[in-house]
Amino acid sequence: MKKIRSILLWIIIPALIAVVGIACKISPTNGAFLEVNTEHCVGCGKCVTVCSYNAISVINNKAVIDPSKCEHCLKCVKECPYDAIQ
Ligand code: SF4
Ligand code: SF4
Repeated sequence: MKKIRSILLWIIIPALIAVVGIACKISPTNGAFLEVNTEHCVGCGKCVTVCSYNAISVINNKAVIDPSKCEHCLKCVKECPYDAIQ
């Protein structure tokens, strides 16, 4: 019984590590929602143009991210000249 349990642990632990590793590669933000810092955002729209998923709109001169469309590619984070998306 003890031997079976230790064999299962040797299988389960590496499998869990692999799953977490794949999940991190698929979602660089680890699934966390991106937020727009409205004090930094000037509404320039650069983030809107780079988002391939139409997940960003500029409303009342501030970027707004639709979390249901965001695929966490982080292009908008890199594009924003004001570091307004975190
Ligand atoms: S690129 Fe930055 S400053 Fe421009 S609209 Fe997007 S979040 Fe705001
Ligand atoms: S992380 Fe990618 S998909 Fe999400 S809002 Fe930014 S550019 Fe669009």
